[in-house]
Amino acid sequence: MTKFIFVTGGVVSSLGKGITAASVAAILEARGVKVTMTKLDPYINIDPGTMSPFQHGEVFVTEDGAETDLDLGYYERFLRHAKMTKNNNFTSGRIYSNVIEKERRGDYLGGTVQVIPHITDEIKARIRASGDGYDIAMIEIGGTVGDIESLPFMEAVRQMQVELGRSNAMLMHLTLVPYISSAGETKTKPTQHSVKELRSIGLQPDVLICRSEHTISEDNRQKIALFTNVEARAVILCPDAQTIYQIPSILHAQHLDDLICERFGISAPEADLSDWDSVTDGLLNTEDSVTVAMVGKYVELPDAYKSINEALLHAGINNAVKVKIDYIDAEKLETDSRLMEPLKHADAILVPGGFGERGTQGKMLAIRYARENNKPYLGICLGMQLAVIEFARNVCNLTDAHSSEFSDTLNPVIDLMSDQVDVEAKGGTMRLGQYPCKVSPTTNTHAAYKAELIHERHRHRFEFNNKYREQLTAAGLVIAGTLPDGSLVEIVEVKDHPWFVATQFHPELKSRPTNPHPLFRDFVTAA
Ligand code: GLN
Repeated sequence: MTKFIFVTGGVVSSLGKGITAASVAAILEARGVKVTMTKLDPYINIDPGTMSPFQHGEVFVTEDGAETDLDLGYYERFLRHAKMTKNNNFTSGRIYSNVIEKERRGDYLGGTVQVIPHITDEIKARIRASGDGYDIAMIEIGGTVGDIESLPFMEAVRQMQVELGRSNAMLMHLTLVPYISSAGETKTKPTQHSVKELRSIGLQPDVLICRSEHTISEDNRQKIALFTNVEARAVILCPDAQTIYQIPSILHAQHLDDLICERFGISAPEADLSDWDSVTDGLLNTEDSVTVAMVGKYVELPDAYKSINEALLHAGINNAVKVKIDYIDAEKLETDSRLMEPLKHADAILVPGGFGERGTQGKMLAIRYARENNKPYLGICLGMQLAVIEFARNVCNLTDAHSSEFSDTLNPVIDLMSDQVDVEAKGGTMRLGQYPCKVSPTTNTHAAYKAELIHERHRHRFEFNNKYREQLTAAGLVIAGTLPDGSLVEIVEVKDHPWFVATQFHPELKSRPTNPHPLFRDFVTAA
């Protein structure tokens, strides 16, 4: 029977609940326990697919084509064996929409449809299903205790704890223990209050994870235990770490995994965290560094490019260098030529994915600079489409070349291909999720993957326009990868450039700290 660990957060948001939950999962996995993770988001959107990255950070795409919360990216990066699917993330909006659909179908046989039990039943059914086939399922509830919107989720958790019993379910609560510098002390009161808030809705935490900037004294730990009714050994301290990949070790050192296994009656060997130790080692003990200029639209909010940042970090570990990311605002680059300076100083240039025309000219300036000056370039999704447009304009003299996403040009080198190619789009008009790709020999791409057939994840509407294949390749653009039947272009390179690779898919989604993505690895090597 699957055991459930529910994870809630208190005091403030942004405490790193997803990372902490994923770290707990990682130490359990390191003991050979089969763990999966699910994120419940309290907002009304059906999924984060339509939300701006400014609102919600990056949209993480799963192999089966679900557009999900960026925490699922952490889950995949921290877990070796669990693969996230559309069942691992759901929102209030999704729950309500299912219940309303059933109501319209008459499934409730004329009954009054209510939050309790109908909404909570729907939530519980999804939570249970998400744990199928695993020893432990970790269920992270988005938001902060006390939010109105997360109440139905909290109530579902309360009910499940009663139904499953103490040996099959536990509640882990993440709080903040702030440090007041004028008093020179850490304060436990917000934690006490946050647990009180939980108790008022019938939930008693079994484990508290206390986030703080500073270390927390033993006295304070005892005090938290006493006031919150949590065993002292289950009050786990989690001060800010130098890297998130240290957190599994920090939790393990306080025997959190023993406590969980004991509670659930799981006998498992000692945790082997040597992989995490070498990741941390690699990150903290490198002297050399390279700088990657990332030219994008959401540069004030690094969360918008979470998986890319992580993939660069992983590639750095593999190359024994620190990768510094210099975020450059694509829109400002269009009007302020001084911003070309950091591009010139960077060791490599990356243009990430994006939607909408804003900033595209600036991105093309950066791409042109990389192409003409032999700077290593990695283009991702929109970064690939713009590389094609830039090439068409400046090498093939198709000065009005553009994407039909942005203009009605006579030369739409990037266009909707649905009339020409029949790819089954998993997300309506969007090409979403994993697709196979055939890699052309003697390309940098092939040198990286060392494979003819690869699988990568997509999230886009527009494609390389096949009508321009001949003209662009004759001028030196290289088609380095296509769908296996050749119908859609997935990767382009530039002939005689040391390292210029641009992909229609998102390689960053598959990078792991212990197993960097081959394209990011070689991109950083080239840098
Ligand atoms: N806007 C482009 C498209 O829809 C690229 C999308 C992306 O970069 N993820 O095709």
